[in-house]
Amino acid sequence: MPAVALTTPLYYVNDLPHMGSAYPTIAADALARFYRMTGTPTLFVTGCDEHGQKIQQAAAKLNRTPQEHCDLMVEGFKSLWQLLDIQYDRFVRTTDARHYPIVKEFFQRVYERGDIYPGQQQGWYCVACEEFKEERELLEGNKCPIHPTVTCEWRDETNYFFRLSRYQEALEELYRQQPDFIQPQSRRNEVVAFVQQGLRDFSISRYTTWGFPVPIDESQTLYVWFDALLGYITALLEPQDAPTLANALKTWYPIHVHIIGKDILRFHAVYWPAMLMSAGLPLPRQVFGHGFLTKDGLKMGKTLGNTIDPFALVKQYGADAVRYFFLKEIEFGKDGDFSEQRFVEILNADLANSLGNLLNRSLGMVCKYCDSKVPSRGYDLSTACAQMVQQVQRSYEVLAFQEVCQAVLAVVREGNKLIDDRAPWKLYKAGAQAEVEQILYSVLEALRLVGLCLYPITPSLSSKIWRQLHLEPRFLWTEAVWGGLEPGRDLPKPQPLFERIEVKQ
Ligand SMILES: [Zn+2]
Repeated sequence: MPAVALTTPLYYVNDLPHMGSAYPTIAADALARFYRMTGTPTLFVTGCDEHGQKIQQAAAKLNRTPQEHCDLMVEGFKSLWQLLDIQYDRFVRTTDARHYPIVKEFFQRVYERGDIYPGQQQGWYCVACEEFKEERELLEGNKCPIHPTVTCEWRDETNYFFRLSRYQEALEELYRQQPDFIQPQSRRNEVVAFVQQGLRDFSISRYTTWGFPVPIDESQTLYVWFDALLGYITALLEPQDAPTLANALKTWYPIHVHIIGKDILRFHAVYWPAMLMSAGLPLPRQVFGHGFLTKDGLKMGKTLGNTIDPFALVKQYGADAVRYFFLKEIEFGKDGDFSEQRFVEILNADLANSLGNLLNRSLGMVCKYCDSKVPSRGYDLSTACAQMVQQVQRSYEVLAFQEVCQAVLAVVREGNKLIDDRAPWKLYKAGAQAEVEQILYSVLEALRLVGLCLYPITPSLSSKIWRQLHLEPRFLWTEAVWGGLEPGRDLPKPQPLFERIEVKQ
């Protein structure tokens, strides 16, 4: 299998991570775990984007140097990823000493291509976005459409420009030739419409101090996005390798998928491929833009005071609960809502009642009717499970995590129904031991496969399921075939799988 590198956004460190950063990281982790499970060499990249005026301002407000501020924020990100059970392979920081040589070399290529030139920059600038806005995009009072509380500043300065306009046709061709370059479809349509309006060159330098010097003019620093996007390439360097483009590109490039939020779609689906074309490099296979999260139906924001604190959420409910909720409840790519009530309902219904109960009741019966050993083989759910496995594989490959959960829940429902319909306790009393064993084997084997299929989303829960089936939790996709449980093996006493969440009034 060809190697797969996938990335989260490189998160901007003006503040500690919020749920909007945790969400794509959970998705990327699930995808990376799936690929590893299939035996595909996988590199999961995350990290932080640490330059720019906004960070300088945030640090100054807190009486820190920008570097001190970045170091502190980065620790916050790393500790949240640990709490959420995120197994990244690379954590790249754009202030890393190995990043500038990559940026310089890339800049040089683009410069030699004739795609960088000095020009006059006039326009409305949102410091929060670190982006010039088109006049037609602005809200009343020159407010940013993404940051309605931020007034955009009028700027008029000499900057270096990147000749984006030169890539208009090539980009349009890319979207045509590779219709899934941007996913989901709605995001692709947005980008295609934006590019059709005509692309303008954009400035890639600023007069701020917190950034890399422009290689050909040290009086300015590089625009934060120009250096941030290149962080994806720096991340691919092996730790022992010298920081050159050739080294960075040799193993993991091109990137399989960039998972990003739709607010930074333009940078990834327009600017980034154009920059790569200019440097003569292959393009990533896909840019996947997820939606925005709301809370109780409202846009989250500090001013409204209704943000979700991911640290508090995971400390209260555990990593699996948080991972499961966001991947099951929201179709990846669409906007979605969080409410604590819904959160509790979903977890209780799916994980405590349906799944947890199925495992508990079937192990309980195995205890009573089968001497706590894996019963002799049955095949009652084998067709349903084969369908689940196929569906789950297809769904992971297209980042349809919700469909994964639905396919798994369908089998869990079938399992509960099988027990309700066939009532093994009656069969046992009637002396139909062989039938009892076949039914219980079928349910336990289905649960083994359910644990495997859910592992990328709920790694600890899946491990618990497997341990209760007396299996070593090493999840490989080659195990996704019926019959892995060996009859006759001892089974441990059943333990509750997922405690019901009781809501405090
Ligand atoms: Zn903005």
